[in-house]
Amino acid sequence: MPELPEVEAVTRSLRPLVRGRRICCVHIFHPIATKPQSPTRLAKFAERRRILDASRHGKYLLLVLDRGLIEMHFRFDGQLIWFRSASELLRRANQSPDGVHVDVALELDKGVLGFADQRHFGRVHHWESFEACPSLRALGLDALSREFTPSFLHAHLSASRRPLKEFLLDQSKIAGIGNIYSAEALWHARLDPRRPANSLSRTDSAKLHKAIVSVLRRALECCLDPAPDFRDPQWWFQGLEKILRAYQREGLPCRRCGRAIRRIEQGGRSTYCCLHCQK
Ligand SMILES: [Zn+2]
Repeated sequence: MPELPEVEAVTRSLRPLVRGRRICCVHIFHPIATKPQSPTRLAKFAERRRILDASRHGKYLLLVLDRGLIEMHFRFDGQLIWFRSASELLRRANQSPDGVHVDVALELDKGVLGFADQRHFGRVHHWESFEACPSLRALGLDALSREFTPSFLHAHLSASRRPLKEFLLDQSKIAGIGNIYSAEALWHARLDPRRPANSLSRTDSAKLHKAIVSVLRRALECCLDPAPDFRDPQWWFQGLEKILRAYQREGLPCRRCGRAIRRIEQGGRSTYCCLHCQK
């Protein structure tokens, strides 16, 4: 599932393609992608509007329009595909047997931006403003924003009794961290994912803050090298496993102490940690 670094890499790569472009036509192939909103409303809303910028908050990609915004959430495997023209889109989209899966496409005055999720969990929504979108409004500080400081983190940790892992996954506190980078940040900070958030000292919180930021920055570098290629429908981020120290490393030796990384269940999800050096 794309987390902050992946969505940031997508946003940065998309920006030069869409900034300043006008949306001429919205093509809906699979209306499920706009649920619970109506696909015709999306079309009516977006057509003839100009894209001022591509931005991101947490795991959400936002196309800021001259009025309102389009919000995209990739969930597990949502992705963007770029077509050179509407005729290329219509020739390739959803044409069996070897066509490209596309759910919604924004035909611009130059190029076409397709949104695709074969499993249909990803969504494309439209809003009059950031505040009009309940899921955006509910988000906490973005983990790479300047306002996310060690004292912000410490204050929020102190107010919560939840296990650290669950605290980090809660998008209403800090936005953008998912299962992968929470496991990684806790490994780097040497903190047990089961430990209650409010048991952390100021020093522990500072260590965790540093680990979160550096894990996300390193992952972002990795996600930009090579940068997303929207022309290739098979494209996915490569080489992230090189930087992972805990996530999906069950049974492999901890890179710090050599003992086996363990997989534990927490709140119905798997997390990975070294029970020897994460306290
Ligand atoms: Zn260890």
